[in-house]
Amino acid sequence: GYHKVLAENRKLYNQIQDLKGNIRVYCRVRPFLPGQMSNMSTLGRIDDQNITIFSPLKTGKDARRNFTFNKVFGPLATQEEVFSDTQPLIRSVLDGYNVCIFAYGQTGSGKTHTMSGPKELNEKTFGVNYRALNDLFCLTEQRKETFTYEISVQMVEIYNEQVRDLLNDGLNKRLEIRNCSNKGLSVPDANLVPVRSIEEVIEIMNLGQRNRAVSCTAMNDHSSRSHSCLTIHVQGKELTSGYALRGCMHLVDLAGSERVDKSEVKGERLKEAQYINKSLSALGDVIASLARKNAHVPYRNSKLTQLLQDSLGGQAKTLMFVHISPEVDALGETLSTLKFAERVATVELGAAKINKDNGEAKDLKEQVAFLKMESVRKG
Ligand code: ADP
Ligand code: MG
Repeated sequence: GYHKVLAENRKLYNQIQDLKGNIRVYCRVRPFLPGQMSNMSTLGRIDDQNITIFSPLKTGKDARRNFTFNKVFGPLATQEEVFSDTQPLIRSVLDGYNVCIFAYGQTGSGKTHTMSGPKELNEKTFGVNYRALNDLFCLTEQRKETFTYEISVQMVEIYNEQVRDLLNDGLNKRLEIRNCSNKGLSVPDANLVPVRSIEEVIEIMNLGQRNRAVSCTAMNDHSSRSHSCLTIHVQGKELTSGYALRGCMHLVDLAGSERVDKSEVKGERLKEAQYINKSLSALGDVIASLARKNAHVPYRNSKLTQLLQDSLGGQAKTLMFVHISPEVDALGETLSTLKFAERVATVELGAAKINKDNGEAKDLKEQVAFLKMESVRKG
């Protein structure tokens, strides 16, 4: 009796947690880079869910600001640690969920480091992209008695509101986004490449990175001004029943979120800045609107939100990694990044925000206490 009820209660609790967690926000702080050691830091106390930022030019209580997220990774967090918290979300793709993970933050704050990794790639330094695919390969292998899976990837970038295929050599045409494709492909004309091993994945990613670089001879640091999106498509079939499922995961390395001073840039640079601004605010608006459960969600306001439409909201699970730099020079951007992230997180958690001090765990404890009483009463 009691144990069964408790188990059911736990199941219910987990389901609720699952729903509540539809949009998660993780914050990651980049360490100081070699040669930067003499720089002043804005970092105060950091724990599992909180981070305090110091403003050295202010005094009193204005000098510090605390932010709370689902998870905070300090400068010492390893790629492996960051991935292990993301793993359950990634695994749900094999159960037919749509997942969207994106990296937000100013240029140089570590977005590419989290998603792909540094230049010297090895098992220790692999970012979320590689680890996600590797994990999916391992899991499909474990499930092969009951399921067959096919995994394939697409890689596109959005630059100035144009979508380009990164896995198609020499093809520079603009791609259309469709959200009604019955195959679940939002960019049906982008090359879809089946992958079976991590070696194949590395090859594909290298091709994508090369193609990204080719287009940017005229512009410096093109990568910080375009959004790149790796999409993993999973098709599964249960061997006995023939039951088929489909899941999709977008892993997005967003353009740098820094505000560009409009008085200082002109022409091409200004246009880029406006496009980035527009798409990042469209993303924020979509998330806020989903969280408020609005009937109309403004997906169509940017190519980015159109691309991610099937993986934002509804049954989809979303994770935003916000990145900050520790230096005093970055203070302004750090605060605006964290405020943006806080807005996303606050709206999402709604009522849960009020009992920030682990209100959910308390709820569960209360329920368990109640059930214990009930079972004692009923004998
Ligand atoms: P972004 O993509 O946001 O512009 P990068 O990922 O390119 O930033 O990071 C900028 C620099 O900082 C790179 O040299 C990168 O290797 C380094 N870096 C970023 N995050 C970390 C980290 N967590 N640990 C060590 N080095 C990092
Ligand atoms: Mg980058």
